[in-house]
Amino acid sequence: MKTHSGVLVIAEQCFGDIHRVSYELLGKGREISQKLGSPLYSLILGGEGLNVEELNYCGADKVFYMKNKCFEKPEEFLFKENIVRFIEEQKPEVVLIGATSFGRSCAPRIAASLKTGLTADCTDLYVDEEGNLIQIRPAFSNNILAHIKTITIPQIATIRYKEFNEGKRDTNRGINITVLDAYVSLNDKSEIIEIFKDSDFDITEAKVVVSVGRGIKKKEDLEMFKELVELLGGHLGASRAIVDAGFIGSAHQVGYSGSRVKPKVYIACGISGAPQHIAGMKEAELIIAINSDSSAPIFNYADIGYVGDLYEIIPKMIQALKNNK
Ligand SMILES: Cc1cc2nc3c(=O)[nH]c(=O)nc-3n(C[C@H](O)[C@H](O)[C@H](O)COP(=O)(O)OP(=O)(O)OC[C@H]3O[C@@H](n4cnc5c(N)ncnc54)[C@H](O)[C@@H]3O)c2cc1C
Repeated sequence: MKTHSGVLVIAEQCFGDIHRVSYELLGKGREISQKLGSPLYSLILGGEGLNVEELNYCGADKVFYMKNKCFEKPEEFLFKENIVRFIEEQKPEVVLIGATSFGRSCAPRIAASLKTGLTADCTDLYVDEEGNLIQIRPAFSNNILAHIKTITIPQIATIRYKEFNEGKRDTNRGINITVLDAYVSLNDKSEIIEIFKDSDFDITEAKVVVSVGRGIKKKEDLEMFKELVELLGGHLGASRAIVDAGFIGSAHQVGYSGSRVKPKVYIACGISGAPQHIAGMKEAELIIAINSDSSAPIFNYADIGYVGDLYEIIPKMIQALKNNK
């Protein structure tokens, strides 16, 4: 007799907007729930006015909308406390959480409170012949893919944004929403005094990304890349090497420990192509690489490669784009 059943997707919202990772988790969650022969639930915590029926349209059999003003701010303690109480009561066998900044912070707290395992940053999930959930994630700096089976229940996994396709939206799918109140709405452990927003910059949504690596000599040289990005209507990305060097903020980092991007065009400038960088950009539709070393691994992934000095190539690209305006 199973004590737990159902796949639960924890949908994320930020200041009233449902994060798209939620729809991706529903897409994968549907597949997993069908294999397990169990229902797909979604839990969302938020204030008034969320478009929660979208979670039904994109795959959830049943949506639990925990509605309370206290969830208007990303108060981790309150989210964690309420999610744990919900899971204890609902008893899902699998819980999927987005590996966003918020999800990465909440998931370990939830797993620890439930005394269960957590597989972080999964890149794939499947159900084996014995009905076990197998969680796949890169390990040892991306050199192996670990297949992990959690022996404790519920099995909790965080999944990176842009890893799966969104659940197919179908407005004919029946709406089944249960509104709940918060179990706990008062946070006496900590208080959010002020919220800082790092502009509206979100590299994961960019159609064009121009990324810069250790091929640049100094921070000021980023200016020419900013000009190129402006002309192309894109976003500026970076390898970890120049983020670590303090040339640019971590919101720009592409890769295994940065953001995963899927733009139409990705231009890698002075980036060698380490596996940890490739992990974040290999899904781009068109990859252009500029590197002075013809044996740089980035060329193995590039659709178009320029062997040369970026200090010569980038100004020429800028000039050509200006001439074509
Ligand atoms: C656990 C872990 C997580 C990591 N996560 C990430 C991550 O998320 N993202 C990431 O990027 N890295 C990550 N790294 C680091 C990664 O392993 C590499 O060290 C990093 O990607 C190297 O950055 P780079 O290509 O800019 O620098 P380098 O490897 O030093 O390459 C610089 C390149 O520039 C070229 N070059 C030099 N001068 C010029 C010029 N004038 N014109 C043209 N080309 C030139 C060189 O030929 C060279 O190929 C991670 C590492 C670990 C261990």
